[in-house]
Amino acid sequence: MPDIAIVGAGISGLHLALRLQQAGVTTTLYAERTSEEVAAGRPLHLPVRFGRTRQRERELGVAHWEGRENGTYGVNLVAGGEPDIRFLGRLDEPASGVDFRLYLPRLTADYLERGGRVEVLKPEPAEIDRIAPRHDLVVVAAGRAATGLFARDEARSPYRTPQRVLTAGLLRGIAPVDPGHIHFQVTEGGEIFSTRILTADGPVHGVVVEALPGGPLERLAAFDHLADPAGFAAELLGLIEKYAPDLRQRVDAREFGLAKPGDALQGGITPVVRESWTVLPSGRVALALGDAWVVNDPLTGQGANLGSRSAFELADLIGEGGPLDEDFARRAAARLWRIAEPVVGWSNLNIGPPAEHLGQIFVTATEDQRVADAFVRNFNDPEAMWEAVKSPEATASWLKRITEGEETG
Ligand SMILES: Cc1cc2nc3c(=O)[nH]c(=O)nc-3n(C[C@H](O)[C@H](O)[C@H](O)COP(=O)(O)OP(=O)(O)OC[C@H]3O[C@@H](n4cnc5c(N)ncnc54)[C@H](O)[C@@H]3O)c2cc1C
Repeated sequence: MPDIAIVGAGISGLHLALRLQQAGVTTTLYAERTSEEVAAGRPLHLPVRFGRTRQRERELGVAHWEGRENGTYGVNLVAGGEPDIRFLGRLDEPASGVDFRLYLPRLTADYLERGGRVEVLKPEPAEIDRIAPRHDLVVVAAGRAATGLFARDEARSPYRTPQRVLTAGLLRGIAPVDPGHIHFQVTEGGEIFSTRILTADGPVHGVVVEALPGGPLERLAAFDHLADPAGFAAELLGLIEKYAPDLRQRVDAREFGLAKPGDALQGGITPVVRESWTVLPSGRVALALGDAWVVNDPLTGQGANLGSRSAFELADLIGEGGPLDEDFARRAAARLWRIAEPVVGWSNLNIGPPAEHLGQIFVTATEDQRVADAFVRNFNDPEAMWEAVKSPEATASWLKRITEGEETG
């Protein structure tokens, strides 16, 4: 049995570690921070995990948040304008939002309880190379900050700058809906979405403002929420009032504010696909996984889901046996790209200039619940989503199939 080093204890590294553990493969998880530090720190992302990821969690025996109240059952997309676009599409399996400061330490504890090994490692290439000779393969799942190990894949990375300027926060004072859904507001300045997130202190709402650079939502990303949390909340509420009036109806202005001081993140994310493997100076092969390999803008909510899916695929490949050499790395790269390509294509389309055929889906979904449901179901099936949106022709034939009743998704 091989011995695998996994650098990074985010969802990608943990799902790989837990999956390999189930297969009897020896792993060491190298984490930058202890679980206590992660739990006490600031939020790094606010991911919604869709049904397939939750199914993998059940397979891993780490489905700790199964209660109905923790589920997200649909997406309510509102774009206003003319025609007035608004629809609530239903997911086929409920999604879930759990604060990763709760989620990651819990999964790390699961891994340790089952005999896993966790060591703290500094996020530096020399450190990664230092531990590499102890293992047969190094998997780097160290997140979106570049480690310097994997070069940018130019052909697969159309953007050089962030296409949205993000402000994301955990907020109290937003009334839940029953059953829970993601509110997704499209405005001329970008997008605002909100969904319930379970934190260690109970449920709150994760709100993400995806501002088009230069647009009216952008200034929030420069607001110093640490120095002036009340001013930050007032600024955000003002934007919600103006640009997401449906969401505003659920806000109690007296309660509205960051759940805890510092519960926000700000800045832009440049989508990038990096080379998926390299040979370290020590001679060991290092593979990139999750955000260390592919970073998408969070607009389509796919990064964590893709990290989990890729982890399972990689675990299967390792389980097939054989040397973990450059040949293996090439095969892994090809197989994992088949999974990632639809996610990258769809995510990049969404943050690009408005695509008329996407608009066509939204207009039709407003009039036809079958289209609304089929579109929203595809958040849990990025291959099917990409097939539906990858070109105007693909969208026309997808819409035809759904509206003529030949297909349900
Ligand atoms: C605002 C926002 C909203 C999002 N919403 C969604 C969503 O709805 N759905 C979705 O699927 N995705 C979403 N994403 C994206 C998603 O959160 C990420 O794609 C996902 O968490 C990446 O997981 P990862 O394990 O690859 O990396 P990370 O979660 O970044 O984990 C990497 C870990 O490695 C550690 N590390 C770094 N360097 C080293 C080193 N050298 N040695 C050891 N450890 C190291 C880091 O501290 C970190 O703990 C969102 C992101 C943001 C910012």
